[in-house]
This record gives sequence, structure tokens and C-alpha cells, in this order.
Amino acid sequence: MDCLFCKIVSGEIPANRIYEDDDVIAFNDINPQAPTHALIIPRKHIATLNSADESDKSVLGALSLAAAKIAKEQGFDQAGYRTVMNCNEHGGQTVYHIHLHLLGGKAMGWPPYQNKLKTA
Ligand code: AMP
Ligand code: ZN
Repeated sequence: MDCLFCKIVSGEIPANRIYEDDDVIAFNDINPQAPTHALIIPRKHIATLNSADESDKSVLGALSLAAAKIAKEQGFDQAGYRTVMNCNEHGGQTVYHIHLHLLGGKAMGWPPYQNKLKTA
């Protein structure tokens, strides 16, 4: 399978790994949007959140638990941080192997979009 993040899991493509366990690995985003911007990905290939199923419950939980561990390790758990998972085009997903963004080390704005929602 020609998947960038599967190649990072296998080690075929290098990444600066900051955390790993049986279910997930985490590494620094190549184009950081915050002082810490990590990506936490399952070892298992799941293309989008839409393709996850009941058997993926524990791995989906592992992504969030890893984010909290990394935030604590890096010392911004109490100040706060953001986790984001983008899905498909409107979500802004560009790599089709699910990943949880972990952004920390600065205060972030909300909401993340500029335009008013169109309801019609
Ligand atoms: P998304 O737009 O949610 O699919 O996020 C994909 C993220 O992967 C982006 O933030 C990219 O900067 C990041 N990215 C792409 N290629 C690499 C790579 N080789 N190593 C680390 N991060 C990457
Ligand atoms: Zn993959």
C-alpha cells in the first residue's frame, strides 16, 4: 500500500519519533503550526475516521491517551493544548491514514474557521 504514514510506521521513511506504544506512534509534524505539533497515528492503516469500526475503539482511544501523555511529558498539560483529527476534504485531511494532531505551547484561537456558517 502506498501510504506515507504506513511507511513511517515501518521505518521506510524516517520521522522524529517522540512516543510509541503497542497501538500508536507519534512524531513531530514536518510543518509545525505550534511550538509543539505532533501527529499521533495508529500502527494499523485506517484511511479516515469514516473507515474506523467497532474493532478500532481501543486504538482510537489510544490516540487520545497518547496525546495526554505527550502533553504531560512536554510540560503543557496544565496550560492546555488542542487535539484535532481532520476528515476528508472539508476537514482538511491531506494524508489518508488517520492521525491526531497535538498542538501545544501557545494559546490558540477558536473557532478555527474565518467565515460565518452558511445555513442554506
Ligand atoms: P492533515 O492535513 O490533517 O491530513 O495533516 C497531515 C499533516 O501531515 C500535515 O500537518 C503535514 O505537515 C504532515 N506531514 C506530511 N508529511 C509529513 C512527514 N513526512 N513527516 C511529518 N509530518 C508530515
Ligand atoms: Zn497507512
